[in-house]
Amino acid sequence: MDSKVMDGQVVSMEYTLRVDGKVIDSSEGHEPLDYLHGANNIVPGLERALAGLKVGDSKKIVVPADEGYGPMDEKAFMDVTRAELPDDLPVKPGVEMELTNEDGHPTYARIQHVDGDVIRLNFNHPLAGKELHFDVKIVNLRAASDEEKDHGHAHGAHHH
Ligand code: ZN
Repeated sequence: MDSKVMDGQVVSMEYTLRVDGKVIDSSEGHEPLDYLHGANNIVPGLERALAGLKVGDSKKIVVPADEGYGPMDEKAFMDVTRAELPDDLPVKPGVEMELTNEDGHPTYARIQHVDGDVIRLNFNHPLAGKELHFDVKIVNLRAASDEEKDHGHAHGAHHH
């Protein structure tokens, strides 16, 4: 048994993600995260940095924004008026909402700022433009099944 993280492996890892010094996400108190390596299940900079690790290895990984959730897109903002938003939506910075775009697909936005009747919506991922600081520990590795490779994701105990 000398397996390491590489394409076609289902990797179980404990992780903590910090952004701007704050914990954003962590497996602590939960099951480890299972993902299929090489299938873009996780952000590219993290996937690349995990390659070659073995069970028991811990690593601190800093992922720049462009290998994480991408840079902040200055065009992904839109100004709307109060009347264009749902009546029951509180109008203040940071409020998140699901909207329907022109193609009828759900899209997520949050209020960037409010300037009188003009409300600026931000359609960027909340972690766009952010440097991601991961602490990871590899707790298990196994070869993916054909079905998992087919689906492009890991089938854990909670998979439906
Ligand atoms: Zn599946």
